[in-house]
Amino acid sequence: MIYADNAATTKMSPAAIHTMTTLLEEAWGNPSSLYEHGQKAKEVLEQARADVANVIGAEPKEIIFTSGGSEADNQAIRTAAALGKKNGKMHIISSAFEHHAVLHALEALKKEGFEVTLLDVHSDGLIVPEEVEAAIREDTCLVTIMYANNEIGTIQPIREIGAICRKKGVLFHTDAVQAIGHIPVDVKADNIDMLSSSAHKFHGPKGVGFLYVRKGIRVTNLIEGGAQEGGKRAGTENVAGIAAMATALKEIHAKMEENTRHLIEMRDKIICGLYEIPHSALNGDACQRLPGNVNFCFEGIEGESLLLLLDDKGIQASSGSACTSGSLDPSHVLLAIGRVHDVAHGSLRLSIGEDITEEQVDYIIQSVKDVVRYLRSFSPVWRDLCAGKSKFIL
Ligand SMILES: *Cc1c(COP(=O)(O)O)cnc(C)c1O
Repeated sequence: MIYADNAATTKMSPAAIHTMTTLLEEAWGNPSSLYEHGQKAKEVLEQARADVANVIGAEPKEIIFTSGGSEADNQAIRTAAALGKKNGKMHIISSAFEHHAVLHALEALKKEGFEVTLLDVHSDGLIVPEEVEAAIREDTCLVTIMYANNEIGTIQPIREIGAICRKKGVLFHTDAVQAIGHIPVDVKADNIDMLSSSAHKFHGPKGVGFLYVRKGIRVTNLIEGGAQEGGKRAGTENVAGIAAMATALKEIHAKMEENTRHLIEMRDKIICGLYEIPHSALNGDACQRLPGNVNFCFEGIEGESLLLLLDDKGIQASSGSACTSGSLDPSHVLLAIGRVHDVAHGSLRLSIGEDITEEQVDYIIQSVKDVVRYLRSFSPVWRDLCAGKSKFIL
């Protein structure tokens, strides 16, 4: 079995599992309690906060633990919106290919009177900093652009966008769920005001994540209750899960250079191999992309059938994102980079893991080639294309 869907979720690392199970037994106290068990849990929690902060160049008090990336995205956006509203600034800039946690949070704000500008994403899957600058208005309270896209893996010019926002005095949030642990991120150097991350995308547990908020920014609570997390996020902390997240993050961060070298080599081998399939194309820039991401479109086939047949061959991949599969709409990300519906339907995302081997890569390439050829052999769309009744796009 080859798991090539790490952008959907990753397998927990043995070290993270060890941290979690040990702490479930040993640090079960409530970190808000003052007696010994509580204080032990509190220590674990604060060590995890320091570790996470250290990896992204933040201070521990700038880290708020959340239930994951979606909650962190919502909290960041609500925070900027509340500050904006107070100052009469109700315009937000984002992009058309954000994760639904961002897009749907912005939809909700529109109903409350906010105006949202979604920037176009270019065909290479990149946002242009100058276009961000041009979209900023007197009443803009937030720019939110993802660090790396979860479907096509393109890495955005975050540092440049951050510098523009800083210059213009506009808050800048980035959904860095796909970036943290996989590419270098430094919140200070990158001029980031708020950043979202999720443990299960870097071999930590599900249901845990964090939000970085630069000190001095007044955070909005999404959950009212006790004074946990400095009064910014109520609810007794998931101590073992948070500590396991810190373990996973430290571990993957320490191996980042080695992982990146291997993944890029494997990724580029897959990309070269799949390009041998006629009428196919890589989605997103070939260089400015996550080390483990391959995303292709093949003309004349259905991505869903491709996935099922690959699954039969022991390869687990995805078409579009896990959140959108089950719906027949093509991916909003592929549409945003200008793929037409028919082409976007024939998409395949392979998000490979750090432990992938060269033999597995060869097997993936051969399997995709075989399955695409097989599906095309009885596809009416492909027959029409070959007969010249319709025009090839790729
Ligand atoms: C997975 C993901 C999220 C959601 O994170 P959860 O922890 O699953 O809520 C948000 N943004 C991006 C880019 C993601 O890949």
